[in-house]
Amino acid sequence: MTNMIESVHEHIRREVNDVHGINIDEVDHSLKRVLGLVAGGTACKWAWLSMVVGDFLVPVAAHGCEPDVLQRYDSLEWSVIKSGKPARVRDVHEPRDEQNDALSMDHTSLCSLAVYPVFSGYQENTIGLLTVAHDRIRTFPSVQQRVIHDGVRVIEDMLALRSDSIRDPLTGCFNRRHFDRQIQTEWRRANRNHLPLSYAIIDVDQFKPFNDTAGHAEGDQVLRRIGAGLTARTRRAGDLVCRYGGEEFGVILPNTPGDAALILMNEFRRAVQDMEIPHPAFGGSPVTISVGVSTASSFEDVVRNDAEFYMEQADQALYRAKQAGRNRVVAAWEEPGRPQNQAAS
Ligand code: GH3
Ligand code: MG
Ligand code: MG
Repeated sequence: MTNMIESVHEHIRREVNDVHGINIDEVDHSLKRVLGLVAGGTACKWAWLSMVVGDFLVPVAAHGCEPDVLQRYDSLEWSVIKSGKPARVRDVHEPRDEQNDALSMDHTSLCSLAVYPVFSGYQENTIGLLTVAHDRIRTFPSVQQRVIHDGVRVIEDMLALRSDSIRDPLTGCFNRRHFDRQIQTEWRRANRNHLPLSYAIIDVDQFKPFNDTAGHAEGDQVLRRIGAGLTARTRRAGDLVCRYGGEEFGVILPNTPGDAALILMNEFRRAVQDMEIPHPAFGGSPVTISVGVSTASSFEDVVRNDAEFYMEQADQALYRAKQAGRNRVVAAWEEPGRPQNQAAS
């Protein structure tokens, strides 16, 4: 049970971080400041922002309180998510029509509250909630509603900017900055939990001649397809795909031993080949990729080395894959020139 709760929390942490760029392990001062302004402008004691993660409503920043994670069921907050319309309650102790008494904060201290949906900038779906609450009756007159509304708009803009700042605009994969940060986080997690951690670096084969012959725009299209294919195949919690540089992608595979990482990367290598993107400089034969994989598989590995060591190992394995003829996956632990787990097909 404890393990399950822990894994849910790990999952939540990663989701909130990867989707919204919010690190819930640290106090988010800029969000907290906006919440403080909204609480002040509505003469309320408390304000908090919660994000939707699957069936959970997860508080990510708060002013004056520490709300709980709320699981999806008939609650006032979930009804706002469903309807996309704000709700205001002058006194939670008065009888109401809805059968939805559950709240992120307990009723003994809380009396009145206003719950506003936070929308994603692009999809117009509800991604979170801004709640202001007080321990006395509040009616939230229109001037106060305006304050909450404006606070929500500011938060929506902040979240959209953050989400952009961790993505590569061409492929939609994560960018190098987010990758570098997450490597360190996953490294610490692997260290703490004694779990294996694999890395992979993927490089498109003969991509310069592709661009030189088909043009840069066609080349961009290939990078988009490879990025989308890779993201679709790495769906476990914590798996992270980034555009590492030009035509290179980096992959973090937490809790994944080396053999599993090799299988996954080989499947992907084959999938790219099966896309049958004709390479114009090589008589229309399909575009292929080469991959270098490294793994910190034991507790000793994690203690003895650091994340950079394994990135370097994956890079060297990639180099060997190129030397050996491209379109192959090479593991850092295989002897150079004698790939055991992979032959090109
Ligand atoms: P190798 O098989 O050894 O990897 O050969 P390569 O030609 O792929 O390697 P090289 O590093 O020489 O070339 C990388 C090329 O990737 C250079 C450039 O034409 C292309 N490239 C890098 N970034 C982009 C990009 O954003 N868009 C496009 N279309 N091409 C890019
Ligand atoms: Mg390259
Ligand atoms: Mg290349």
